[in-house]
Amino acid sequence: MERVEVAIVGGGPAGASAAERAAAHGAETVLFEQGVPREDRDGLGPDSTDAAGMLDYWIDIMDFDYREIPDDVILRELEGTEFIGPNSAVELTTTGMDASYPEFGYTFHRARMDDWLYERAADAGADLRVGTSVTDLETDLRTSSPNGPTHTLTLSNGDQIRAQYVVLADGPQRRITLDALDQFTAPGRSVSDHLSPPEANHIAYQEYREFPEELFESDRLKFWWGYMPGETAYPWVFPNDGTVARVGLTMPIGMQLEAVDDPGSYALLEPTDDQLPSGSEYITRLLEHEYGDEYDVESDIPIVEDRGKSKGTETYPISSTRPIDSPVGANIAVAGGAMGTTSAFHEGGYHVAVRTGKIAGRLAATDSLENYNDVWKRAIGDEIRRNVAFADIVADYEPDDWDRAFDIVSDMQGGDGDGLLSKKYSAGLGATKILAAYKKRKYRYRDGGYVQLSEDEYFY
Ligand SMILES: Cc1cc2nc3c(=O)[nH]c(=O)nc-3n(C[C@H](O)[C@H](O)[C@H](O)COP(=O)(O)OP(=O)(O)OC[C@H]3O[C@@H](n4cnc5c(N)ncnc54)[C@H](O)[C@@H]3O)c2cc1C
Repeated sequence: MERVEVAIVGGGPAGASAAERAAAHGAETVLFEQGVPREDRDGLGPDSTDAAGMLDYWIDIMDFDYREIPDDVILRELEGTEFIGPNSAVELTTTGMDASYPEFGYTFHRARMDDWLYERAADAGADLRVGTSVTDLETDLRTSSPNGPTHTLTLSNGDQIRAQYVVLADGPQRRITLDALDQFTAPGRSVSDHLSPPEANHIAYQEYREFPEELFESDRLKFWWGYMPGETAYPWVFPNDGTVARVGLTMPIGMQLEAVDDPGSYALLEPTDDQLPSGSEYITRLLEHEYGDEYDVESDIPIVEDRGKSKGTETYPISSTRPIDSPVGANIAVAGGAMGTTSAFHEGGYHVAVRTGKIAGRLAATDSLENYNDVWKRAIGDEIRRNVAFADIVADYEPDDWDRAFDIVSDMQGGDGDGLLSKKYSAGLGATKILAAYKKRKYRYRDGGYVQLSEDEYFY
C-alpha cells in the first residue's frame, strides 16, 4: 500500500494551505480533492464558493502579505459596506481593526484565488490529486509507528493509502470528518450532534447579474437584514468585474413558513405565499423591491450564464456553527469549514480556513500536531470569539430589531481597535445595552469557551 506522511482530505482553501505548508516543511504530502466543474475554470477544481469578499484585517489573519496576491485575483477594491434594514441603513467605511491592507477590503475571483493556492502547494512539492475523492478513513490507534496512530484512506478509484497524519478539510458537508471523528466519541454520541444541528445548516444560493451602469456600485458590499425570516438569513450584492455583481442569499435549510411569527413584517414575503420562497424567487423579489419601479428586472438586470457553477447560478451548503477541537491524540487535525470556523454572521470563512490549514500542515509535517488546538486558538481565537458573540446577539433579531440596531450604529463615534462593537459612542441606552450584551457574550467565550467539542471529550 502507498504510504505518505501527510494526507489531506479536501482541497478548498484550508486543504490547499495545509498541503503547501506540509510540503514546504519537507513532508511527503498528498491532497485529495473530489473535483468540481465550474463555468469559469478549465477542468476540475475545488468547490470554489464564489461570494468571495475579503476584509482588510482578514489578509493578516491569513498570514499573507497582500502584495503577493496576484492582481487578477482581486476584482474590486472596496471602500465600505452597507447594511440595510427595513427602514434604516448604516454604512461602514472601516472595519475598525488594525490591518496592513490599505483599503476596506476587496472582492475576489474565488476560483483564481483557489488556483493560486494550488500553484503554491504544487511548487512546494505537494502531490495534488484532483478528481479523486476519499470515501473512507480508518484510524489505527495501536500501530507500531513511532509517531503514533496511522490512518488508512480509501479512495474513489478503489486504492488505499496509509498516512501518518491526516488533515480533514472537507468543508461544511464533512462527508469524511463526521465518521472519522466518531471513531473517538463516547458510545451513543456523535460529532454530528455538534456540527449538524438543523439550525446551523444553511443553503446559500447566488446569481451573477449584469447591472445597468447607473445601478452598479463597484466599491461596496450590500447586505439586507430583516428582509427574510430565519437565523442568519439575508440577501447580499457583491460587485464583480465589469458591471456584473453576485446577488446571493443564505437561508436555513428546511425552515417552514408556519415557523415565522409575523410574515407580514418581512419585505421579501408576500401575503399570497403558502410556503417560503426558493432562493431564486427571493433574489427576484429583492431586485424587484430595490429596482422594480424603474427597471424590468429580467431584461435590465439579466443573469450572466457563463459564470459560476451552472448557467450563472450557484448553490452551496453552508454550516455556521461554533468550532470544534481536533482529536490530535489520533494524529488528526480538522481545518476550515469542516471544523466550524465559518462565521454565522457574515459567512466569512476563507481567512480562517487558510490560517487553520496552514497551521495544521506545518504541525503535521513537523511531528507536532498535538499542539494544533492550542496554536489555532492563539491565531484565530479573537476572530472566532467576536463572530460567535455577535452571532448570538443577532440570532433572534426580527425586522424591528435590525432597524433599532442600525440606528444605534449610525450614532456611533470613534473606535478602539476591536471592531465595530467595541467602539466608544454616544448613542444612548440602546447602544449601552448592545455593548453590554456583546461584552457578556465575549466574556462567556473567553479562554476558548467558544469551542463546542473540546479535546478532552475524545476517547482513544
Ligand atoms: C455563498 C457563500 C458565500 C461566502 N462568502 C464568503 C466571503 O465573502 N468571504 C469569506 O471569507 N468566506 C465566504 N464564505 C465562506 C467560505 O467559502 C468558506 O468558509 C471556505 O470555503 C471554507 O474553506 P474550506 O477549505 O474549509 O472548505 P471548502 O471551501 O468547502 O472546501 C472543501 C473541499 O473539499 C472537497 N471535498 C469534500 N469532500 C471530499 C472528499 N470526500 N474527498 C475529496 N474532496 C472532498 C470539496 O470538493 C471542496 O473543494 C462563503 C460561503 C458561502 C457558501
